[in-house]
Amino acid sequence: MSQVVFLTVEPSSCVDTVFKTHPSWIHPHLTQDIDLVKGRQLRVSALIPKGTCLLIDRPYAIIPVVDNPPENDDLTCSNPACNQRVTRHTERCPCPNACIRDVRWCSSSCREADSVRHGFECTWLKRYSESIRAKWGEYDFGMLWVIVRLLATRQGESQHSKSISESELALKGWKSGWDSISLLCGSSDTWSHERVRSWTVLVKKYLQNSPILPHGLSTDQVLHLICQEEANSFGLYPKETGHFPVPESASPRGEQFAAAVYSTAAMANHSCAPNIVHKPNDQGYMVFTASRDMHPGEECCISYFDLTQHTDLTSRREHLQRSFRFVCRCERCLSDEKLEKIEEPEQSSSEWTAMPMMDIL
Ligand SMILES: [Zn+2]
Ligand SMILES: [Zn+2]
Ligand SMILES: [Zn+2]
Repeated sequence: MSQVVFLTVEPSSCVDTVFKTHPSWIHPHLTQDIDLVKGRQLRVSALIPKGTCLLIDRPYAIIPVVDNPPENDDLTCSNPACNQRVTRHTERCPCPNACIRDVRWCSSSCREADSVRHGFECTWLKRYSESIRAKWGEYDFGMLWVIVRLLATRQGESQHSKSISESELALKGWKSGWDSISLLCGSSDTWSHERVRSWTVLVKKYLQNSPILPHGLSTDQVLHLICQEEANSFGLYPKETGHFPVPESASPRGEQFAAAVYSTAAMANHSCAPNIVHKPNDQGYMVFTASRDMHPGEECCISYFDLTQHTDLTSRREHLQRSFRFVCRCERCLSDEKLEKIEEPEQSSSEWTAMPMMDIL
């Protein structure tokens, strides 16, 4: 698969490639579809052998994990064309404006190549990061920073025309850039009033269009973007997610080191017995690989959580309901449900009802 090779850039060759951001790569037999209950979804249109790479999706925005920063030594290089891991404790390449400690580059070339994009976020980070962290906590700070980076990418995009690969994908119906972000699921109706109210306060306080953050969008548009981002962002972990059946020797996927928004990967729905494993590569691109042979028309599903962690039906359903707000009705859950009914015949019929499955991870 020659198209894949150029994307798996080794850290040592990073400096030569930081000035180019490679577009996403999509397998020619990966297709998009719409299901009445689940919404957008990915399918394969031909027989796909186990081990085939189906997608290498460029992050539209990525941030290093900001939860519990003292415990997390690794950051990702701030240049979106690089994104390789850098150690927080190395003194090299912090921001010359000393905005925040979470911004680091792996080299001075990367810092220079990223100066315009970082210029968009730098003043905002310097002005607001401390007060947001103190008043609202690390989670909300991370969420707002992802939004600022989404807006920064959008800003940079308006100055560049589409690449040849992106134009080719567009001919096959795959949107890229900001157009693809605007298609992500999620709106103020997806979330509770309480959450939407709290995000509205955050937008009005920290994300209004201003000389500090000149994005040109209205308060409602930025609020809508938060509703989409919260329903679609991925956590990035060092190991693959989604091997099933879970091997007996399997260990957890490790500590989350970044969070990112991917417009194509976000279309994959969840299954507790997925046919796709996913893992970020060295540049923070999300890679989907078939974990078993797939047949024409089959839906591509990933697991939204670490399958080594939630093994029984109750634990999986509680976790999915709490974290992702849907009741899973994948084949594995339905089969486990049947088994439970056989074991406990006195129990009344299932109270689980089908709810729209959101593209949340
Ligand atoms: Zn770099
Ligand atoms: Zn800075
Ligand atoms: Zn399930």
